[in-house]
Amino acid sequence: MTTTLPSPELIASFIDIVGSANALTNPADLVPYLVESRGLYKGTTPMVLRPGTVDEVSRIMKLASATRTAIVPQGGNTGHVAGQIPREGKADIVLSLQRLNRIRDIDPIGNVIVADAGCILADIQKAAEEHDRLFPLSLGSEGSARIGGNLSTNAGGTAVLAYGNMRQLCLGLEVVLPTGEIWDGLRRLKKDNTGYDLRDLFIGAEGTLGVITGAVLKMFPRPLGHQVAFAGVGSVEHALALFDKASSLCGAALTGFELMPRLGVEFTTRHIPGVRDPMATVHPWYALIDISTSDSAESAERMVHELLEQGIAAGLVENAVIATSEEQRKALWHMRESMSPAQKPEGGSIKHDVSVPVSSIPAFMKEADAAVIKAIPGARICSFGHMGDGNIHYNISQPVGADKQAFLDRWREINAIVHGIVASYNGSISAEHGIGQLKRDELAEVRPEIEIELMRRIKHAFDPAGIMNPDKVLRAD
Ligand SMILES: Cc1cc2nc3c(=O)[nH]c(=O)nc-3n(C[C@H](O)[C@H](O)[C@H](O)COP(=O)(O)OP(=O)(O)OC[C@H]3O[C@@H](n4cnc5c(N)ncnc54)[C@H](O)[C@@H]3O)c2cc1C
Repeated sequence: MTTTLPSPELIASFIDIVGSANALTNPADLVPYLVESRGLYKGTTPMVLRPGTVDEVSRIMKLASATRTAIVPQGGNTGHVAGQIPREGKADIVLSLQRLNRIRDIDPIGNVIVADAGCILADIQKAAEEHDRLFPLSLGSEGSARIGGNLSTNAGGTAVLAYGNMRQLCLGLEVVLPTGEIWDGLRRLKKDNTGYDLRDLFIGAEGTLGVITGAVLKMFPRPLGHQVAFAGVGSVEHALALFDKASSLCGAALTGFELMPRLGVEFTTRHIPGVRDPMATVHPWYALIDISTSDSAESAERMVHELLEQGIAAGLVENAVIATSEEQRKALWHMRESMSPAQKPEGGSIKHDVSVPVSSIPAFMKEADAAVIKAIPGARICSFGHMGDGNIHYNISQPVGADKQAFLDRWREINAIVHGIVASYNGSISAEHGIGQLKRDELAEVRPEIEIELMRRIKHAFDPAGIMNPDKVLRAD
């Protein structure tokens, strides 16, 4: 695979495929495609290609394959591990899927929506809603993240408890392979046991095996009842016990169970316009509980009251509020989704997106907190997340007044400490954001050799020339 700049003739051939209006080469136009939201990675590229059809994607890949040109697929550029950012100092071409944004078909009876990979997630949610259906993937970046990116990172979000992550929300895929061949796997089947599951290989592959161009996504009946409660609890142990009660009481109606620390509430109310503390009382931890029911509005209402009453009676809930309008429900979720951006004005923040078995969350957090504070006295731990999925965004803000760069320079050291503890609980170092560039080298350290070797063989089988998003997930040979 070449790492030198493509010749003017090759550049012209790529431009021919998409037309000059959709081939960006002016350095100022390239900038938005080269930096990711956290500013940790900045890439270089000779050009960004914006194909408008699957055939154009196929022709791009054929040419790339023939000339051994590296291609980096990009959707909404909201990924957190820099998989979508071309490598610095190389000549990777960015393939933006943003113009491939057509909803191809909606079948409310079959409960499927067939869409181009460049559709924005919020547009898919809206299209489902217009047909009185629900597409349940929901995340903070839904206004800009695209379906191809959601699939390629196997995105999770706020409703995984009830509906699963992207792998569970997709029935079929259309993929352009590194050779330019098109695999039409746009099947609408719930049951299909016909050999190896190619779909599941492409989902979560972070663009290293092929370019996803279309998908069959699952829709669901829209819930009739929806309740969101915010409960102050005394400890992570109490939050876990409350989750246990919620699971027993609500079953599949429990759509989300999120954990937030007091520090996170302080950060959001301080820095995010419009966010207010919903309670007059102060608590060490908070649980955001989302319940949605398909039978009636009343059943959700009954469940939320019953849960909070049981929680108070058991000494788990210290105080609670229940949102009484859609606006209030959104406000509570907005606070939760603002936990990460609210850390930015507080200085440097070292992040972890980890998962451990749900019942191990309190022990994991206790151990990790002690180790982090020992390493950096005064560090402000703001760990929050999808407690019901065992997924904690274990984020650490710098001590007040500390030097930001000196703090961030310890990123890898602190990662090693936290991830070591995660490993001791048989957890994962990337629960929902993937591996990309950020965790590539660490992946090889935490996974058994045989797993990495199998991944290498799969990569080689799909992409023998190594042109498909090289150096992401696995180090290029
Ligand atoms: C505020 C905020 C909140 C977030 N919350 C969550 C959350 O709750 N849960 C969660 O899981 N994630 C979350 N994320 C992370 C991010 O939004 C998701 O990873 C999202 O799914 C990425 O979609 P994208 O279109 O932006 O992909 P990009 O960032 O453009 O790309 C991500 C990866 O997918 C590859 N890729 C993109 N499109 C294609 C394609 N068509 N074919 C092949 N490969 C492709 C890229 O090469 C890259 O490796 C959040 C991000 C932000 C900024």
